[in-house]
Amino acid sequence: MVRTRFAPSPTGYLHIGGLRTALYAYLFAKKNGGKFILRIEDTDQNREVAGAVDIIISALDKAGIHYDEGPIVGGDYGPYVQSQRKEIYLKYAKQLLESGDAYCCFCTKERLAEMHEKGATKYDKHCLHLSKQEVQERIARGEPYVIRQNIPESGSSTYHDEVFGDVTVDFKDLEDNILIKSDGMPTYNFANVIDDHLMGITHCIRGVEYLMSTPKYNLLYDALGWKRPVYIHLQPIMRDSQHKLSKRDGDAGFEDFLRKGFLPHAIVNYIALLGWNPKNNREKMSMDELVESFSIEGLQKSSSIFDETKMRWLNSLYVKEMSAEDFHAAAVTYYDEYYPNKAIDYKYLSELLQSRVEVLSDIKERAAFLDAFDDFDVELFVNKKWKTTIDMARELIDDCITATDAEDMNAALEQLAIDKGLKKGQVLWIHRIALTGAAATPGGGAEMVKLFGKTEAMRRLNAVKKILTA
Ligand code: GLU
Repeated sequence: MVRTRFAPSPTGYLHIGGLRTALYAYLFAKKNGGKFILRIEDTDQNREVAGAVDIIISALDKAGIHYDEGPIVGGDYGPYVQSQRKEIYLKYAKQLLESGDAYCCFCTKERLAEMHEKGATKYDKHCLHLSKQEVQERIARGEPYVIRQNIPESGSSTYHDEVFGDVTVDFKDLEDNILIKSDGMPTYNFANVIDDHLMGITHCIRGVEYLMSTPKYNLLYDALGWKRPVYIHLQPIMRDSQHKLSKRDGDAGFEDFLRKGFLPHAIVNYIALLGWNPKNNREKMSMDELVESFSIEGLQKSSSIFDETKMRWLNSLYVKEMSAEDFHAAAVTYYDEYYPNKAIDYKYLSELLQSRVEVLSDIKERAAFLDAFDDFDVELFVNKKWKTTIDMARELIDDCITATDAEDMNAALEQLAIDKGLKKGQVLWIHRIALTGAAATPGGGAEMVKLFGKTEAMRRLNAVKKILTA
């Protein structure tokens, strides 16, 4: 049974790189009929942010990445929050102390700082050589201590990563990391091993930043007599060829993109493709299709650059697919915020906008014409392409009013063009500018009359007539 996990630290924010790690772990588990687990890694309590776990859970839920075991839903391998597992880690730390794979270290901050000042690049194993008796006495005296991993001084270790192939690290390049801190809490370096084993994780999918420290974890698996998981390390998502997409860019969070008006599944679909190539080269895929096509072989060894333009395009495909009701319900938030209480048919506005926005927040700009009339600029009648002028508008305005009142407005405008010896485009331009005062609108004059209603359309045309003839 395949079991994968997503193990975020609760920092109050879900980076889309993290979301992608969760997604791949989810897809891989589901593809193989396995289970996907959420584990909260909150052992670094200084970094913790209130409400952060809820943010993660809600983001995964919106993204459609449903976990089988984890906080709230529980499961057979809980608790799924590391700070609630303190005793478990201590038990295994003691086992490692007994076997000599770990040791107690009493070095003070000052001693460590001095050691580094003198040029040391890693801990010098000073406390490894304390006698058992001395260790016991100092603990009994209440001296603070940490438990460190005892890494062999020479030799090397190799393991196989499913994306990067064989990875070899010399032990001399590894440090005797802290496993248990002086407050009794484990570090990531220890807790990830204990939990992945106890939670039955078969495939460990995580960021490439852990690629070179994995041999340390393997030493722990070996020391405890446990089977190592299969490792799958992932390249980061980049802003450009040099820089990772970072929180500091202001738009690396899943919620940031939701706020920008992206649909959750469009984001998921896009990031799925950032680092993984489906065999069939398809781009638009539902969650079921992603599960169906996912494979470790498709994961890229090189990093990928985030392309918001492409994500907008993908998003627009999902926007077009929304039912009219769903689109309208989503659009109302933007109307309420930017264009409330207009005397228009908002439902019809949604119909006009749905095919014209890529992300929902485009609504703000696409509907800006709603405010344009109040600030009418007659220069807009001058159009180079159509060779229209303000004089032409002045001459046509009465006829535009008559045509708008006609049974078939479009036919009347067409006839008007014929009667005046003008191009149809010239008449339509003048008519639409007169109605809206905006160069760009989601639809032509007929749509605008429908949107405003005839009474309001007439009021507008008469107001423009006054301006033109003043
Ligand atoms: N808590 C770690 C992180 O947020 C998880 C790494 C892992 O998946 O093992 O980077």
